Amino acid sequence: MIVNWTLLEFMDQIAFLEFKEKIYWSSYTPKAHEPFSATVRLVQGIYEEFSSMARAMLRQRIYANYRISDMDRAMVRIAAKRISECVEIADPRINPDAHEIKYRPASSVHSLSETPITERAQMEQVLKTLEKNCRRADVKFLSDRPVAAVLLNSRLEPMAASWNSSRENRTQHAEVRTLQQYWLIEQKPVPRGAILVCSLRPCGMCAGMIWHLCEDPFSVRVIYLQDDPGPAARGTILNKGVSAEQSGILGAQPVEMSMDRAQAVGFL
Ligand SMILES: [Zn+2]
Repeated sequence: MIVNWTLLEFMDQIAFLEFKEKIYWSSYTPKAHEPFSATVRLVQGIYEEFSSMARAMLRQRIYANYRISDMDRAMVRIAAKRISECVEIADPRINPDAHEIKYRPASSVHSLSETPITERAQMEQVLKTLEKNCRRADVKFLSDRPVAAVLLNSRLEPMAASWNSSRENRTQHAEVRTLQQYWLIEQKPVPRGAILVCSLRPCGMCAGMIWHLCEDPFSVRVIYLQDDPGPAARGTILNKGVSAEQSGILGAQPVEMSMDRAQAVGFL
């Protein structure tokens, strides 16, 4: 069968994996800064649709027909296993046995008041209230910890908020949920001067997503209440303050800081 590869290449991002001789694939045509892509959809969708075998499926190599972003790469590192980019693939739509993953999270309007949060104690109370939504039945893994995140604009007014729900879907960290909800509601990049406040230091996946979603990542601050001693939060794009995509920018200030350091510079 003839595949119109040229057309496919310009229209859609495609990502797929093979598991037990079946192809699972997704496509996406993202806008600039959007926190969704074919890879994000594939990984998140497999957890949602095939929860009992998702971990086994995501141990398979993912193939993408496009140059993946740092966000894609970081999500694969935390929630899947490995990925090959710029792979010339046949259009999976011509394979009747291939299974399309069409997952997209539902948008829900957050119920936080838009009153500015200016005090540390106030912020801690907001995060604690959000964390009550985290399921506590199994706290064996770090990812099951009660963790919440709040995205503030430059006037310190909440724009989106959520909590960790990653026990079954490893992509559902508080920060990812907050950022994707923000996009689903606003349909635009995170504006300059925004602040993402998290109860725990963000892992590489969450760091990759905030970086990707920001209009100007160097103007956005990420503040965490508690450090994460695990390897997932080390060497992230926020620690380094520079992405592989923007490796020409050197000497920029890191955009991540602990709440104590934030206090020292006069914030909250
Ligand atoms: Zn995370």
